[in-house]
This record gives sequence, structure tokens and C-alpha cells, in this order.
Amino acid sequence: MFRIGHGYDVHRLDSNRKLILGGVEIPHTAGLLGHSDADVLLHAVTDALLGAAAMGDIGGLFPDTDSRYKDADSLEFLRAAAKELARRGYSISNIDATVVAQRPRLSGYMPDMRKNIARACFIGEDRVSVKATTEEGLGFTGACEGIAAHAICIIY
Ligand code: MG
Repeated sequence: MFRIGHGYDVHRLDSNRKLILGGVEIPHTAGLLGHSDADVLLHAVTDALLGAAAMGDIGGLFPDTDSRYKDADSLEFLRAAAKELARRGYSISNIDATVVAQRPRLSGYMPDMRKNIARACFIGEDRVSVKATTEEGLGFTGACEGIAAHAICIIY
């Protein structure tokens, strides 16, 4: 039986933070605010994995009130979720994600993002898709107030 999971996340941009997306540090005028490294893409992907197995969400597993996760590397969250899926007997078929950001341009960083996600999930890069879009200057992403990410994951 195939199961599908969906993840969605948003983080606010802040000029005092580093921008980390898909485990890649990206030069930009602002980064994302959050308790962990605020990697919005990895948070959406982690939630998609957890959702596929009906295992709750990233906030349940790694609460932002827990000081252990202060400035945490979100690849660790993703790896932990993937390990828990494997422990329960699930395999990941594929992951498809979209980052919604007005700036910066992300295309040059996609190969490294895919590689990081694939490694953390113990799957091949051909099973991981990362895309990016702007929202044409509309809404909070268009105003560069934040970055959003959507992800879906199929497991079996
Ligand atoms: Mg988040």
C-alpha cells in the first residue's frame, strides 16, 4: 500500500540570520527566524515524511521549547524522521518539494539541496525533487517577509 504525506511550513525573514535551505547556506541579505536553523524546506519535507506515516509533526517530535534544538541542524530532524519511518517498516518512494521565495535565486543550489535531502533520507537523489517559485511579488513571500515551502512524500 502506498501512503502520501504533505508538509507545509513558513518562516519569517530576518536580517540577523543566515539563510539555510535544504541544508545549504545561501548568501543573502537575510535568513530565516526560528528556534532551530529554521530550514523551512527541510521542515516541510520532514512533515511530509511524518504525515505519510501518520506520525504527527515536526513540532511534536522536536518541540521548539526544548533547548536541545536551539539552532539545531534541521538535517538531523529529517534524518531522525527517516530513521523512524524505516524502523516502522516503511520505505520512501519519492519526495517532491517547492520553495516559495521572491529572492534570492535558488536554481544554482538545487543540486546540493537534493543531495542533502537524499542522504538524510537514505535514498537516491533521483527520488528527490526540489523546485522553486516566486509568487510574482504578491503576498508575504512576494514582499520578502518570509519564505514558504511545500512538500509531498510517498512511502510504501
Ligand atoms: Mg519550521
